[in-house]
Amino acid sequence: MAEAMKGLQRSHRCTEVTNKNVGETVTVMGWVQKYRNKGGIIFIDLRDRSGLLQIIFEESDCGAENFAKAEKIRSEFVIAVVGKVEARSGGINENLATGDIEIRATELRVLSEAETPPFPIEEESKTKEDLRLKYRYLDLRRPDIQKNMILRSKVATVTRQFLAEEGFLEIETPVLTKSTPEGARDYLVPSRVHPGNFYALPQSPQIFKQLLMVSGYDRYFQIVKCFRDEDLRADRQPEFTQIDMELSFVDVEDVLDVNERLLKKMFEEAIGIDVPLPIQRMTYAEAMERFGSDKPDVRFGFELKNVSEVVKDCGFSVFTGALGNGGSVRGINAEGQGDMPRKKIDALVSFVKDYGAKGLAYLAIEADGSYKSSFAKFLTEEELKALVEAMSGKPGDLLLFAADEDDVVFAALGALRIEIAKNLGLLLKDEYKFLWITEFPLLEYSKEENRYTAKHHPFTMPMDEDLHLLDTDPGKVRAKAYDITLNGTEIGGGSVRIYQNDVQEKMFEVLGFTKERAYEQFGFLLNAFKYGVPPHAGLAYGLDRLIMLMAKEDSIRDVIAFPKVKDASCLMSEAPNLVEDKQLKELEIGLTIDQNYIWNK
Ligand code: ASP
Repeated sequence: MAEAMKGLQRSHRCTEVTNKNVGETVTVMGWVQKYRNKGGIIFIDLRDRSGLLQIIFEESDCGAENFAKAEKIRSEFVIAVVGKVEARSGGINENLATGDIEIRATELRVLSEAETPPFPIEEESKTKEDLRLKYRYLDLRRPDIQKNMILRSKVATVTRQFLAEEGFLEIETPVLTKSTPEGARDYLVPSRVHPGNFYALPQSPQIFKQLLMVSGYDRYFQIVKCFRDEDLRADRQPEFTQIDMELSFVDVEDVLDVNERLLKKMFEEAIGIDVPLPIQRMTYAEAMERFGSDKPDVRFGFELKNVSEVVKDCGFSVFTGALGNGGSVRGINAEGQGDMPRKKIDALVSFVKDYGAKGLAYLAIEADGSYKSSFAKFLTEEELKALVEAMSGKPGDLLLFAADEDDVVFAALGALRIEIAKNLGLLLKDEYKFLWITEFPLLEYSKEENRYTAKHHPFTMPMDEDLHLLDTDPGKVRAKAYDITLNGTEIGGGSVRIYQNDVQEKMFEVLGFTKERAYEQFGFLLNAFKYGVPPHAGLAYGLDRLIMLMAKEDSIRDVIAFPKVKDASCLMSEAPNLVEDKQLKELEIGLTIDQNYIWNK
């Protein structure tokens, strides 16, 4: 039977005990990481969330009764130990924060026994993730995951402190809200009181935070769960966390400024990294042109070059064909990679096919200036020279070209430059390169829906100088929208909002909404704007991704306490699950799918 806590009070976490405490009596509590019984002497590594501490039991210190209890201890037992801090007798362990001390136990209480865990509780676990997630409460005991959780908490604390100092109010917005089918798919929650009606879980607090501006709260923030029922992808979570904010009486500059200072403080205080300000900025158009991506990784070069002009009259039909179809020919100079073996080049060729490209044309410049190439024979000597020059090619370089529609060329080469950098080990996790992307297109044409959709969301303000194009050439309109990217990952984004009803109505018109439908879905926002609305703007960070990069992890699952897996289920709680008929009846819900079918699946 476990003994109670009566008369015991923890004095320190394990690693809070230091050599300054030598000679003192301390009370520590935690889990048994390691247990060695050497006959008359028992060594235990005690673990809590701070780290490890060595405990020594000898009958002469703790008495026969305690020693007998100590002999029965096993891994993961929860124990309390009272003992004296001593300098370590058996030599210093450099790998431990408490490696120069140990506790000589005088009293032991076993607070809880433990079965042998299904996998070892250790750093850099080799256990399969599925098993770890099934027993997530044990996985969460591992020091590397605990470090991530502690970091996450720290970032949240620094964010709250900083934003409070800047005059932001933390205000909660509803989780049961209204479905607005623009954007990703909603998670729906049936209403019992209003049979046949559904709430939606918020994809973001967007409309509510804008309403808070209408209500005069001026500066709002929230660390908030958001829900999107999107298609399954390896590193996507159906529920995720945003640091969400909205500010009144501001324009783009003000939002960028306060966020740069927030990021600086966050990185400095949470991981000791200095973020030099101002953060580099790039327009969307420039990012696409130079990097083929709206979230370019600028830790390395390999920039795209448009060589359409140079090859437009050449004899290589792959190039001229793409140009004839309104596309482009662009290339990357993989500097110094001219001796890349054919097999590796072939791997790159098949890599870009995943991005819709038909292939890659390559040209390696040998040390003597001669070429090894998949297409050189179709070009004249002068054409080749002009092409190499346009690509700033030198002996030893490898030039890689894609020819297709712009979208495909950007996607393929944008991904290719990252793939090459990855292969060369250039993606250094301790280098943090931030970049603002600005002037996003307002709209995006959806071929499936045969209409424009909002690139950010329908409340995003067009750039002043492009407003007049909304009627005549909406595809050309740029928005006051911005993303903050880090090492090629979008970590946040936002925009200045439309606050004039006439512009908002025009926007809905361009998006193919009738006035009735716009009012049906967003009426409470549009009506609110009739009663005095300040110009406002905001931004939201994806906290999970941000922490992942700070923690140098590859998966957001490693920075979320209880994540879901790819099929949106939780391996530990086994959510989602079937519910009882009675529950469905109360909701007036009948299933069109056979329960037996689900059971047997
Ligand atoms: N609500 C937006 C999002 O979730 C961010 C914003 O515009 O503030 O991406």
